[in-house]
Amino acid sequence: MDKPSLKIGLTGGIASGKTTVSNLFAQLGVPIIDADVISRSLTEPETTAFKLIVQTFGVKILQADGRLNRAKLAKIIFSDTEQRHRLEKILHPSIQQLMLAKAAKIKTAYCILSIPLLIETNQIKLVDHILVIDCPIDLQRQRIIDRNGISSNQIEQILMSQTTREARLAIADDVILNDISLEQLKSKVLALHKDYSKT
Ligand code: ATP
Repeated sequence: MDKPSLKIGLTGGIASGKTTVSNLFAQLGVPIIDADVISRSLTEPETTAFKLIVQTFGVKILQADGRLNRAKLAKIIFSDTEQRHRLEKILHPSIQQLMLAKAAKIKTAYCILSIPLLIETNQIKLVDHILVIDCPIDLQRQRIIDRNGISSNQIEQILMSQTTREARLAIADDVILNDISLEQLKSKVLALHKDYSKT
């Protein structure tokens, strides 16, 4: 039987550079399983999760076209921990199941499971190895502002809802400190790729 693909859990705080790093691994041909992408597909209209979310939060979280108003939902859950936990309880078991099912079909030496809330949602055991994208908090703030201009209040709420840099670094097997240029980031990814491909 084929050896199972090594599951590298990629995590990091908001706007630390997870997507940027995932894209660099993808350019090297590495399969990427992204919890955020799965979460979006699970919450398309008519899915079980979608119906549960509407039942739980009410029709006020829908757009005029009947789809989820994700910005509105984000506002609710990041200002109220209890509401955030309710949403996580609906979504996380299915996300986890789907990620594992996808990983089980992969034949390459390793694959990347991008799980932003790996620690917060207690999914460390899901992966074989942890790669943390680390970033100074002020640079995280700046990248969020440059990207989508959400309010500074909401930025702080999101940062506070996530675990600390220290907690992430404590469980990391590898760390990329992403306060570097894209070129430098690319060579760090290439070095890790060579290392992970040997396994
Ligand atoms: P989120 O948590 O919101 O999903 P993320 O961790 O996936 O974010 P990215 O989307 O990869 O983070 O990066 C956040 C922003 O910072 C993006 O606009 C990206 O282009 C930029 N960025 C990331 N890394 C670098 C870098 N090394 N140099 C310059 N810009 C960067």
